[in-house]
Amino acid sequence: MNKVLFYNGEIYKDRKFQKLNVLAEDGKIVRIGEWVSDAQAERVDLKGRRLVPGFLDVHTHGAAGVDVNSADAEGYEKICRFFASQGTTGWLGSVLTDTKEQTLACIEAYKRWKGIEHKGAVMMGIHLEGPFLNPEYKGAMPEHLLQTKNVPLVEEYQKAAEGDIRYITVSPEVDGMVDDIPKLKALGIQVAIGHSGADYDTARKAIANGAMGATHTGNAMKLLHQHFPAIWGAVLEDDNIYCEIICDGRHLHPGTVRLILKTKGLDRVVAITDSIMAAGLPDGNYKLGVNDVVVVDGDAMLADGGSRAGSTLTTGKALENLIAFTGKTAEELLPLLTENPAKLIGVDDRYGFIREGFAANFVVLDHENRVAETYVAGTKVFEREAE
Ligand SMILES: [Zn+2]
Repeated sequence: MNKVLFYNGEIYKDRKFQKLNVLAEDGKIVRIGEWVSDAQAERVDLKGRRLVPGFLDVHTHGAAGVDVNSADAEGYEKICRFFASQGTTGWLGSVLTDTKEQTLACIEAYKRWKGIEHKGAVMMGIHLEGPFLNPEYKGAMPEHLLQTKNVPLVEEYQKAAEGDIRYITVSPEVDGMVDDIPKLKALGIQVAIGHSGADYDTARKAIANGAMGATHTGNAMKLLHQHFPAIWGAVLEDDNIYCEIICDGRHLHPGTVRLILKTKGLDRVVAITDSIMAAGLPDGNYKLGVNDVVVVDGDAMLADGGSRAGSTLTTGKALENLIAFTGKTAEELLPLLTENPAKLIGVDDRYGFIREGFAANFVVLDHENRVAETYVAGTKVFEREAE
């Protein structure tokens, strides 16, 4: 039996930092309390620092030189280990719109990843970014691979993935898509709307039909106009839908981040990275799916200059940026990286909280709210070197 006791720290529980001890056993949290102790447990002295739930990233295309669309199982594991060093303990592999053959290859690689040894973040499943998207709002999506609605294709992908496709981005205005959102949900897939020029009424209908996420809100979507609030107005107004935001200071102006938080509140915003293989690497030439991408000063653009192409952001940096942009505390903002994404993709019964019965996946934050250590299933998978 593998028991670990975390003590002498501030534990993020019920959205507050509290002086508690946490006992993990066989990868799960078994006890939380002021006087928890166990003679057999390995002891981790938090030295007054903060223990928070591991960060969850539901929208990312890669890191550390690996592109999700072309990775093998070892490639996914490489991303997992890099992510652990940034505070991410769970992520969805976002498959950029690609051919059927390549999309199935990603699913196969993911299934093989499940069978190899893990020493980093956990891949929680797959996010399909497309292919039923509006070419006018394609962003970095390859236009020639975009398709009209085809629910049986998603059914085939979900079968191949053995139910692990957890999230899909669709444009509700693609012919008939808005009415078929319930069919996607019936496959066990959470639906986000994005890469979209939907008008207000179509976006409202998508939400009424069960869409629960808005993909990188404000990016690659029709913006709010006083007479035509469009998809952007609809997702900001609605109380239930979760709005993804990319908090790298480039995709959204800090003022826009503050406005989104003011409109949506702290319970309905999900911080994502939308990172690409260049995350964690210097500027240079990279790939994003079938696209060539150039990264200059950390900013990823399609090589033809047509569009921004994801980010080089990490979750740890996103938390630091959110604090800097909003002036809010880590205590207030942590749900954006933990419980909100867990609820959005339906894994809030095991991830996103420090609670008994949940996975012992933690980040230790230092006094500047930077990632100092990361634990997955109670085991240390990252420790920052002393500076
Ligand atoms: Zn993306």
